[in-house]
Amino acid sequence: MWKKIGIAAIAFAVIVIVLNRTVGDTLVLHYMQKQVVKNLSGERFAEFPDGLNIVLCGAGSPIPDSTRAGPCVAVIAGPQIVVVDAGSGSVRNLPLSGIPVGKVAAVFLTHFHSDHIDDLGDLMMQRWGNAAHTTPLPVYGPPGVEQVVAGFNMAYGLDDSYRVAHHGPTIIPPGGAGGVAKTFATPKPGEGLVVYEQDGLKVTSFVVDHGPVAPAVGYRFDYKGRSAVLSGDTKKSANLEQFAKGADLLVHEAISPALVSVLTAGAKEAGVANIEQITIDILNYHTTPVEAAEIAEAAGVKHLLYYHLVPALPLQRLDSIFLRGVSDVYKGRVTVGKDRSWVALPANSDKVIVGRRRSP
Ligand SMILES: [Zn+2]
Ligand SMILES: [Zn+2]
Repeated sequence: MWKKIGIAAIAFAVIVIVLNRTVGDTLVLHYMQKQVVKNLSGERFAEFPDGLNIVLCGAGSPIPDSTRAGPCVAVIAGPQIVVVDAGSGSVRNLPLSGIPVGKVAAVFLTHFHSDHIDDLGDLMMQRWGNAAHTTPLPVYGPPGVEQVVAGFNMAYGLDDSYRVAHHGPTIIPPGGAGGVAKTFATPKPGEGLVVYEQDGLKVTSFVVDHGPVAPAVGYRFDYKGRSAVLSGDTKKSANLEQFAKGADLLVHEAISPALVSVLTAGAKEAGVANIEQITIDILNYHTTPVEAAEIAEAAGVKHLLYYHLVPALPLQRLDSIFLRGVSDVYKGRVTVGKDRSWVALPANSDKVIVGRRRSP
C-alpha cells in the first residue's frame, strides 16, 4: 500500500517537473517573441507622447558605474529621434528603452573627450544594420568632428565590408555605412547657432567652458512649445545659463567635490599618485551639483536632471550626499539620473512627467 503511494507520488512529481519545464519554456519563448514584436513594430516607441522626450541612454561618466553607461542623451521630438553624445555602453540603452536605433536621424557631439564618443562606432553600425539606410549617419559637432567621424569610419571599414558581403547589398546597402561629419563653427559667447531644423525640432548650439578642452558646446532643443537644454561638459557657465532661460528641463553634468575627495583620499592611501592627481584635476572643469542648481534657479528652469555623474553613485544613500545644499538654492524638482531616466514634456502644455523607461 505505502509502496504504491510512494511510486505514485514520485511519478506525479516527475510529471509536474516535466510539465513545468515544457510549459515554462513555451511561456518564456512566447513572452520573448512578444517583446521582439513590441520593439520592432514600434509599439514601445508609441508610448512616448507627442512633444519633447528626453531619455538618458547614459547617465554616467568615465568612472565605472553598474547602473550608468557613459554620457548619452536621446531626444525624441514627435516621430524624430536624435542623440547627443555616445558614451561607453550607452547605445544598447536605446533599444532597451524602446527607442528604435535604426530611426536615429542625427547625432550631436558636445566635445571630443573619449567618454562622449566611445560608442559612436556602435551607434553608426546599429543604425545602419537595423534599418537598411542608404546614406551615412549625420554627426554634428564643432570643428574636430570630421576627424572623429573619419577615424570611426576607417576603424569600422573592414566590418562594413563583411556585413555587406554576408547579407547582400539589399539588406545592408553599402552607402549607409558609418557617419558623415556636419561641422558647424563654434558659436561665440552670447551667440546661439541653429545647427538643425527639421519638422518643428530646432537645435541651437552654444559654447560652454570645459577648458583646456575646446571647442565644447551645449545644445538647446525646442519643439512644439517645449524646451530642454543639455550642458555637455562644462564648469559653471554663465553662457549656458543664458541659453537655459525659461527652459522646461535642464540636463546638467555634475561632479561632487565631497564624494571625489573620498576618491582622492583613497588613492592617496593606496599609494596611487597619478589617480590621486587626476581626481584633483577633474574638479576644475566640471560643475558641482549646487552650481548646476544655481543655474537652474537663475534661469527659471522647471526641472533639473543630473547626468554625467562624477563619481559613480552605486548606493542610493550616496544620492543625498551628492545633493547636499541643492534644495537651498533651487526650488524646482531635481532628479539624479540613471540609465533610462525619462522626462516627457508633452506638446503645448506645461507638464513635466518624470519616470524611467523599463527594459523588457
Ligand atoms: Zn565627460
Ligand atoms: Zn569632457
